[in-house]
Amino acid sequence: MNELFDLYQEIILDHNRRPRNYRAIAEPTCSADGYNPICGDEIRIFLKLDGEKIEDVSFQGQGCAISKASASLMTVKLKGKTLIEAEKELKRFQGMLAEGEDKEVDILDFGDLASLSGVRRFPARIKCATLAWHAVEAALQGKGQASTE
Ligand code: ZN
Repeated sequence: MNELFDLYQEIILDHNRRPRNYRAIAEPTCSADGYNPICGDEIRIFLKLDGEKIEDVSFQGQGCAISKASASLMTVKLKGKTLIEAEKELKRFQGMLAEGEDKEVDILDFGDLASLSGVRRFPARIKCATLAWHAVEAALQGKGQASTE
């Protein structure tokens, strides 16, 4: 279990150091700001849609390693997905974090996102991990802002 935890840490640190899709999209179809007042994480999400498909998704902002890594992993996961598929991913990820810390996470199913399952041990950090995901939901619903409070 400790080896797995180390691997998870490595994935999070890597995405924090070199966040994927960390940039603005010039003419986004929609965007939203996410704010987590407990930790001070602030993230802006940009989405470019092609019909029902997410052609591009990116983010910018300031935040802790967890919030940044989660946003980075999320953009990788959602890029190229249809809106219906994306909605499922959002629900599945939030559901995974809402489960008890002892519930095993299907690593094959979640891939690198499983690395964030460690935050279940630290309830205050769950909001860091879900911030970007809430922001994407807000953007797709036409709301400009999402707050974890
Ligand atoms: Zn945070």
